[in-house]
Amino acid sequence: MKRINIKIISDNDCCISCGACIYMCPFNNIEMKYISRKFKWEATIIDNVICTKCNIKDNCLSVCPSYNLNYINLANSQKNNLLGEIIKIYTGYSKNPEIRHNSSSGGFVRELFYSLIKLRKISIISISQITDMEYSPRIVKNIKEMPNSIYYNINYSKAFELIKNNDEQFLIIGLPCQITSLQLLINQKRYSYLKKRIYAKVSLFCGYNFDRINAYSFAYNSNFKLKQISFRNGGKYRKTIISNKRDFKLFDIINPKNINEKINNDMMSDKFLCQNGCLYCVDHIGYCSDISVGDAWLKRYNNDFQGANLIITRTKKGEDIVKNMKHFYFEKGAICDLIESQSNKYARGSIGEGIKSLKLNKYFYPNHIRIHNKEEIEYYKFSNREIIKIKFVKHLLIQKHFTIGKILYVILHYKKYLVLFIKQLLYN
Ligand SMILES: Cc1cc2nc3c(=O)[nH]c(=O)nc-3n(C[C@H](O)[C@H](O)[C@H](O)COP(=O)(O)OP(=O)(O)OC[C@H]3O[C@@H](n4cnc5c(N)ncnc54)[C@H](O)[C@@H]3O)c2cc1C
Ligand code: SF4
Ligand code: SF4
Ligand code: SF4
Repeated sequence: MKRINIKIISDNDCCISCGACIYMCPFNNIEMKYISRKFKWEATIIDNVICTKCNIKDNCLSVCPSYNLNYINLANSQKNNLLGEIIKIYTGYSKNPEIRHNSSSGGFVRELFYSLIKLRKISIISISQITDMEYSPRIVKNIKEMPNSIYYNINYSKAFELIKNNDEQFLIIGLPCQITSLQLLINQKRYSYLKKRIYAKVSLFCGYNFDRINAYSFAYNSNFKLKQISFRNGGKYRKTIISNKRDFKLFDIINPKNINEKINNDMMSDKFLCQNGCLYCVDHIGYCSDISVGDAWLKRYNNDFQGANLIITRTKKGEDIVKNMKHFYFEKGAICDLIESQSNKYARGSIGEGIKSLKLNKYFYPNHIRIHNKEEIEYYKFSNREIIKIKFVKHLLIQKHFTIGKILYVILHYKKYLVLFIKQLLYN
């Protein structure tokens, strides 16, 4: 019988480049490649012939977070209505105004770094910039090595290598899918010895992430050649900066200067133009972590312009870590805060919507990706507009037809602005 392998993930553009499968293949037959035509990293089989002879029971697919994960198991049954294990929920922010201002949300991750680096012999794995657009997991020694949120696909495969090759105690920071893949790997018998090296896992909340094409299209539509892009600089309604190293442009995503900027912003961060894998993701709040952290998009913080975090402690270890963070101001939170915070328009409903999105697999890839199909799970059906975005707008961007892609996007979203936009095109 022909066994399926991670090729079905890449064939469906569902690889989120966590790298777990690389360490699962006993024949070293997988490598991570940057696929220029897809504008993303992807796990790639080196020699297909080797796979035809591979009949190991748990092959590369078994650790893939884009494949057949039982999220009810991951969330520890249906606890808290599929919000996963929760010990406590907090909101809060760093007491240091500079840290708070320079972080994406309230500075929780950076305060965590300080409290652990100072007090214990814990090494921290965070992504860090290696070249203009490239970030990779690294053992960070200085807070300056840690970026704010990076909203595009990165190659996370180094994280596991670091744990494997260094006999230390690690705190690992990553997106839910990256933390899940790590968990799936250390659940494997041959890697179970690594469990003791993992001091704690910290997951960011994650509504969706993007291929790099969105950033390139954004820069093109803003008449700028992109070398670097950073997100969420300074204050609650943080800014995006694109730079070509000699020059830079700053964009206020929440309060764009004009319609054109608004359209560009909306396109760059449209959840239906996200990585394909994210359309099927159901873990937006880090079920496998000790601590999950995101933004506190809450009414009670409306008048606060510095930014705040919402934090879930999921294990006793997570709770102990949080208790030792003396420089972070904590307020008591509740499940209703989590739901309020993650269901607003800036973050795809981390709660519920992900669960519904299981239907998307059936819709697009009926014979490929199977995820558990328990009856209690609701199915989500794309609207025609969403399908056009996913299938056509994104395709046009990937083909670098940025202007046509934008026209189609405008037709879908802002019919009333279309004439204005065409006039602008003609004048330019
Ligand atoms: C792709 C993405 C989607 C997100 N979606 C949501 C959401 O829907 N709702 C919500 O409330 N919050 C979301 N967040 C989390 C939010 O943006 C903040 O990162 C979080 O609130 C922590 O803020 P902070 O101020 O404590 O730390 P920050 O200053 O944000 O520090 C973040 C740290 O996270 C790590 N990191 C950043 N980007 C990545 C990445 N791409 N891959 C792996 N590690 C990374 C690095 O270690 C970095 O230093 C998302 C983050 C990302 C990267
Ligand atoms: S099918 Fe087997 S040989 Fe092929 S990549 Fe997967 S684990 Fe490796
Ligand atoms: S998502 Fe991770 S495990 Fe799945 S194919 Fe991509 S790199 Fe491999
Ligand atoms: S939405 Fe899910 S799959 Fe996509 S980057 Fe976030 S955690 Fe990973």
